[in-house]
Amino acid sequence: MTAAYLEKLNDRQREAVEHGVGLPDVGIGGPLLIIAGAGSGKTNTLAHRVAHLIVHGADPRRILLMTFSRRAAAEMARRVARICRQVLGDNAAVMTDALAWSGTFHGIGARLIRIYAEQIGLNVDFTIHDREDSADLMNIVRHDLGFSKTQNRFPTKGTCLAIYSRVVNSECSIREVLKSAYPWVLEWESELKKLFAGYVEAKQAQNVLDYDDLLLYWAQMVSDTNIADDVGGRFDHVLVDEYQDTNRLQSSILMALKPGGRGLTVVGDDAQSIYSFRAATIRNILDFPSAFSPRPADVITLDRNYRSTAPILAAANGVIDLARERFTKNLWTDRQSEQRPVLVTVKDEADQAGYIVEQVLANREVGVPLKQQAVLFRASNHSGQLEVELTRRNIPFVKFGGLKFLDSAHVKDMLAVLRFAQNPRDRVAGFRLLQVLPGIGPQTAARILDTIAADPEPLLSLMELPPPPKSGEDWPSFTSLVSALRKFEAGWPAEIGLARAWYELHLDRIHEDADTRKADLLQLEQIASGYANRERFLTELTLDPPDATSDQAGVPLLDEDYLILSTIHSAKGQEWRSVFMLNVVDGCIPSDLGTGTTAELEEERRLLYVGMTRARDRLHLITPQRFFTHGQNAQGDRHVYSSRTRFIPATLLQFFETATWPKVSASASERSANQIRIDVGARMRSMWS
Ligand code: ATP
Ligand code: MG
Repeated sequence: MTAAYLEKLNDRQREAVEHGVGLPDVGIGGPLLIIAGAGSGKTNTLAHRVAHLIVHGADPRRILLMTFSRRAAAEMARRVARICRQVLGDNAAVMTDALAWSGTFHGIGARLIRIYAEQIGLNVDFTIHDREDSADLMNIVRHDLGFSKTQNRFPTKGTCLAIYSRVVNSECSIREVLKSAYPWVLEWESELKKLFAGYVEAKQAQNVLDYDDLLLYWAQMVSDTNIADDVGGRFDHVLVDEYQDTNRLQSSILMALKPGGRGLTVVGDDAQSIYSFRAATIRNILDFPSAFSPRPADVITLDRNYRSTAPILAAANGVIDLARERFTKNLWTDRQSEQRPVLVTVKDEADQAGYIVEQVLANREVGVPLKQQAVLFRASNHSGQLEVELTRRNIPFVKFGGLKFLDSAHVKDMLAVLRFAQNPRDRVAGFRLLQVLPGIGPQTAARILDTIAADPEPLLSLMELPPPPKSGEDWPSFTSLVSALRKFEAGWPAEIGLARAWYELHLDRIHEDADTRKADLLQLEQIASGYANRERFLTELTLDPPDATSDQAGVPLLDEDYLILSTIHSAKGQEWRSVFMLNVVDGCIPSDLGTGTTAELEEERRLLYVGMTRARDRLHLITPQRFFTHGQNAQGDRHVYSSRTRFIPATLLQFFETATWPKVSASASERSANQIRIDVGARMRSMWS
């Protein structure tokens, strides 16, 4: 008799779930690739496979499961738990709680590096820099080497960091990266080499890691003969979702982790590859089968879509059919529907917001909860008008990864307190924090940091420093705070209250609007209490910031119904009954920044495909005819006219219903003539831009 959970799968999904299971040695089979289009059940199959392995005796603590976000990892763990509980009953709680090694590549990397820190020459208290901190450190080094001032035209700190990151993640040389992506920077090749060497040295001296290091050190661990077996040997099974969005470095980690590919399963869809700007390469998934010898990996393809209605799937297939290169085949579905996706033309972004609100509420009236509806956009700042309108109409929403207050100065100061206590060598954190104190400017801060960095015990050295002039009583209160945090005197999360109380004493002096900032700090404290300890909090906040809610008080809208707002990138892998895509116009998708090369343009097309394939029952693509931008000319503001995305040419209109909103009344024929004129005008302009 087959288990009930297997009966729900189609034959090919089932083959993927059972692949290698039952072989001697807790069913560790050879490498497996599942490659198939959107909504074909790849993630679902992967969850079933993990559950199936556990049901057949695999130890969940020895399963490594990697997805592209923390949210996706949690969802996967939940699905696995449900299946295991069905089969194993109460025991399953114990077993699936132990599915502890699920997360993102970077998050898992951070945890493994923490475990093996000392063996690879790192201090276990290392802190992690986000992109902005990394750019700041790059800037310090750039300045120290004299490249920033004397050599005007030298690339900015952001460009330097982007080049550095590209070199690391693509495993290419600086020259190759410059030639292919930054040809105008080629003249600085030798300076960049010096800069990057200095940057690496600074990170090591300060005991900080940037995002790329989380992969780089991991790669080193699995290639170091002393610990490679130990690291790889922790896991019997390694499973990766969304494999099309991994880069060279990530694939070499996998190959070193599981040489020969035993126990390795990867899943993906080349048509959904949307991270090449972070050096992800489609070659990983396409070359996977032949990466192993003597026997290549087994490949399973799926061809049935269970997610979307036939008209939505037809439109999405239409868009992706125009792509230059494609490997996965089109999918079929038996979910018939009369309703084609709707292409809606609206006047401007205000009307766009109005239209969405009206539709969302109408959907809710007919029984589609807000949570089953999502609004997707190309760039995070596209949802501004909509957020205002939703707030005005009291419609709760959650914006994925959009917690803006994390970028504000006071929140960064607070985090710097915790980071500095964890790692007093973290110069970017220390520099920020010291200047919170009265009487301490950049020069004094730098001098203090130089002094303590030269000491093998930087914290002791800090305690023994004479108080800087003008810092008064604030100095001893600062050093005793750092010392208390360092010794974990208050415990977690109480210590964040300590840090907040200290920082608030200074807030009134530093900022005028101290009260609103205090509310943010309170919210930060609430968020912190959801994490197990300081190190986890700092790491996860840096790698995968929490979602923003429309609730001013910042209390998570846990059980309440809320609308989802998300960039297309963050919507990967998910689905909703009703999906609205905003600003489906040239300039937004494809983004103005993504039309430079054919490869970039193709990636923008795939993004549209990813967005469209999130919809189960209803899909609306919205095209505002004009945008209002600030500060473009002498008068300050102006309108910019726009036209529908080039990825939906006239030949694809058959797949859509078209509509205008608000509905054009009989007396408005003149207006519609105007609209046509505007459209043509935009087209003419875009020919020359
Ligand atoms: P994406 O490419 O967007 O990540 P995917 O291939 O991972 O999509 P899933 O998210 O796993 O697809 O599945 C899409 C939907 O189809 C889910 O609602 C899932 O529950 C459903 N589904 C998958 N397989 C089956 C099946 N055999 N029977 C019924 N429903 C299924
Ligand atoms: Mg998926």
